[in-house]
Amino acid sequence: FQKLKSGLSKSSTKIVSSISSVITKRKLDDEALEELEEALIAADLGPVTAAKLTASLAKSRFDKEVTDEEVRGALAEDIAIILDPVAKPLEIDRSKGPHVVLVVGVNGSGKTTTIGKMAQHYSAQGLKVMLAAGDTFRAAAVEQLKIWGDRTGCKVVARETGADAAGLAYDAIESARAEGADLLLIDTAGRLHNKKDLMAELEKVVRVIAKLDASAPHNTLLVLDATVGQNAHSQVETFQSIVNVSGLVVTKLDGTAKGGVLVALAEKFGLPVHAIGVGETADDLKPFEADAYAKSLMG
Ligand code: GDP
Repeated sequence: FQKLKSGLSKSSTKIVSSISSVITKRKLDDEALEELEEALIAADLGPVTAAKLTASLAKSRFDKEVTDEEVRGALAEDIAIILDPVAKPLEIDRSKGPHVVLVVGVNGSGKTTTIGKMAQHYSAQGLKVMLAAGDTFRAAAVEQLKIWGDRTGCKVVARETGADAAGLAYDAIESARAEGADLLLIDTAGRLHNKKDLMAELEKVVRVIAKLDASAPHNTLLVLDATVGQNAHSQVETFQSIVNVSGLVVTKLDGTAKGGVLVALAEKFGLPVHAIGVGETADDLKPFEADAYAKSLMG
């Protein structure tokens, strides 16, 4: 919880100061509510969520004297209610042999790092984890995944740069089966500037995986970089149009004041948020907990 709190400190500092600039001790009239709504929009919670939160405050406290602490406390409670339904850890089914997780997202969002962190987490739980370097386009991405493989003691299936990503996914599943792996994490390319190519590539990867195991991929995780703020919405829409996104991991919450975007995403898409990234090391992937997140965000 402390790590989460310090990770989210940039977001909470911004929100706390913008709320207290609207309210220190004040009557919660229409004007105060309007200013509060604007402050929440500025904190990346999005217009729909901001309106919903202020309406809820108005319902219980309209025209009453309130303090900023009281307002933040009430907001944290309402935000936790929004986040609660999406706060779901990833469930790995060991009987799947292997449970296949496809990891998608734009370049730089933190896919490879998240895979490395997940490899560490699930290996520590006693699962046999394998990694597939499916971003075959970038040599650096393959190298980076191999480093995570060494670090976590997990085997990495890779091919030469430019190799067919679907072919690699095929090899990886065969290899994971042969080795009796419980979990296979497949990295993918994220060249969003060429959406047609990316779409063709990801669709082929999914098709080939399903050929080997009709129930796979068992999860398709979209990794989102929180620092992009409202842009995250269009990334969700884009990837939903290409693959069957089953859940989110939101990264880089340590380096941004845009932590409110997660609330807006939860409200809009209702996709499970499996974990959050609050740093670059193996231990910096944290479970996403509604109450802790809401409280950390509201200082
Ligand atoms: P990919 O292109 O989607 O595979 O992204 P990478 O995994 O290579 O990550 C891009 C950069 O973001 C790297 O420098 C990572 O160390 C960094 N990164 C990833 N996740 C986090 C996070 O949660 N917090 C911080 N501060 N940096 C992160």
